[in-house]
Amino acid sequence: MSILEVKGLYKNFGKSEVLKNIDLSLEKGETLAIIGPSGSGKSTLLRCINCLERAEKGTIILDGNTIAEEVAGVTQYLKDEELTQARLHLGMVFQNFNLFPHLNVLQNLTLAPMSVDKKPKEQAESEALDLLGKVGLRDRADAYPCELSGGQGQRVAIARALAMDPDILCFDEPTSALDPELTGEVLQVIKELAAEHMTMLIVTPEMGFAKEVANSVVFMDEGRVLERGTPGELLVNPKEERIKAFLNKLLSV
Ligand code: ADP
Ligand code: MG
Repeated sequence: MSILEVKGLYKNFGKSEVLKNIDLSLEKGETLAIIGPSGSGKSTLLRCINCLERAEKGTIILDGNTIAEEVAGVTQYLKDEELTQARLHLGMVFQNFNLFPHLNVLQNLTLAPMSVDKKPKEQAESEALDLLGKVGLRDRADAYPCELSGGQGQRVAIARALAMDPDILCFDEPTSALDPELTGEVLQVIKELAAEHMTMLIVTPEMGFAKEVANSVVFMDEGRVLERGTPGELLVNPKEERIKAFLNKLLSV
């Protein structure tokens, strides 16, 4: 069974239909890249999967647990408490890191494990230091977010998401706020996670990166999934003219 199943998802903002009948599934250990033009609904889809936005219609099943279910044409969500528990299966890394500015790096990593998971401080800190080692920042445990470069900040954000041991890690354009010379260090961390078979959902404008790390690529356009395929199929020889045009335009800049 898929670790994530999204069926018939619709999301409106006022009168504008932003997601239109999205079906998406993700297997354990898979890295799925979501690409497509700006405004096509990629961020909204991730936010709906994370329940940061609520869909009007559709079903979301996470790890066998139905968190949102369409009943008689309307989506009903789990109760708040159950939803909070279910959402712990998901980690989210945002474009702008969203680190807590008043906490140092170590405290950013230990806050949720201590308050939500009720881990003892010593255990939370020792696990946090291991995770910082994994993203190459063990020596910055005492630094505050404002003292970090963008690349370091994003690596801390990834370590913080990993500290809750999520089943799926979601990224929304994790390198888009970074200077070009800093993107490599963040992409490298994500590549290493892919090599360890972390299950990931990555919205990215970096086609080369998508080609290298993703097992599967989805192209979104105007709130719909236009095509899904392996990177070799979809990024090299897409069936849809719309995708060919999109890729050609990227190559010509
Ligand atoms: P993408 O991430 O693919 O660029 P988004 O999911 O951010 O696209 O946005 C899809 C569409 O939804 C856009 O037209 C955007 O203006 C609109 N939109 C996104 N968030 C909101 C919001 N909170 N309120 C109103 N409209 C929104
Ligand atoms: Mg977006």
